[in-house]
Amino acid sequence: MPLVPMRVLLDYAAENDFGVGAFNVNNMEQIQAIMTAARETESPVIIQASRGARSYSDDAYLRHLMLAAVELNPDIPIAMHQDHGNSPATCFSAIDQGFTSVMMDGSLMDDGKTPASYEYNVDVTRQVVEAAHPKGVTVEAELGCLGGIEDGHGAGLTGAEALAHLTDPAQAEEFVAATGCDALAVAIGTSHGAYKFTKKPTGEVLRMDVIKEIHRRLPNTHMVMHGSSSVPRELVDIINQYGGLISETYGVPVEEIQLGIQHGVRKINVDTDSRLAITGAIRKVFAEKPGAFDPRDYLKPARAAMAEVVKARMIAFGQAGHAGKVPKVSLEEMGRRYHDMAPAR
Ligand SMILES: [Zn+2]
Repeated sequence: MPLVPMRVLLDYAAENDFGVGAFNVNNMEQIQAIMTAARETESPVIIQASRGARSYSDDAYLRHLMLAAVELNPDIPIAMHQDHGNSPATCFSAIDQGFTSVMMDGSLMDDGKTPASYEYNVDVTRQVVEAAHPKGVTVEAELGCLGGIEDGHGAGLTGAEALAHLTDPAQAEEFVAATGCDALAVAIGTSHGAYKFTKKPTGEVLRMDVIKEIHRRLPNTHMVMHGSSSVPRELVDIINQYGGLISETYGVPVEEIQLGIQHGVRKINVDTDSRLAITGAIRKVFAEKPGAFDPRDYLKPARAAMAEVVKARMIAFGQAGHAGKVPKVSLEEMGRRYHDMAPAR
């Protein structure tokens, strides 16, 4: 089957009370790792690329790699998502490249750094929804500002400043009605990157109560958790054991993500854990076999290490076993559904 609209996966996940991991990629090995994990667990898949990933790989390489993933895995529904589009233009170019889902992150201005006004966010998100939905393409938006910086994108908020930018549930209700977005990234205290928390997060810093309240107000909106790597100690230890230097850090515990899934989180973004797995595996080969110089000597174990961590997340989020059961809905069909659903504005 061709790439599927992300909305179809999220709707199905909501009906069946599970979450879908959205894994970031920059290259062939990462796509292969995700597809190996998906095959072994029979999971539907969201693969996402940031602006940085698109410029690193060049859109054409990325597009053809994704088409290869589809060709080699005809029984697995795969959605291709633009992570953190900084402007409508970025989202439109992703749609032109065949992405079946885009994130319009209007929580920040198009520099990807400066927190934007609510009105700006509504305006750019609505523009993207109006262009994407007729093509059947899914739109994720963000309200509130996530902490940290990823691929140069993020306001880099910490502490009290980050708390001031948590998603306001009442405003979320208004925002979804005003924009018609399919999924909403919420700021609940998570942040991008490896350094999320200095100790195991408690309810004061990881605000699951915000998720519960948004879900109560918007039971049909799919929430997205960004910055949701768990930063497993064992992966950090491998890096440090073989000459790396990653200081003490804590991610989002898998149990907290599972709690979020019970309260309407349907998409969970994971990037850091894959990066840690890859880096640890490569460092280990370099340390143990200093004579090795064939890239396959270290890329194969790197790919296998990422597949393991992705597999563990797919099982934990509940998407395993569902690949064959997701309804088959094309972009064209989805476009017709949006047309029929659209309220007169
Ligand atoms: Zn993010």
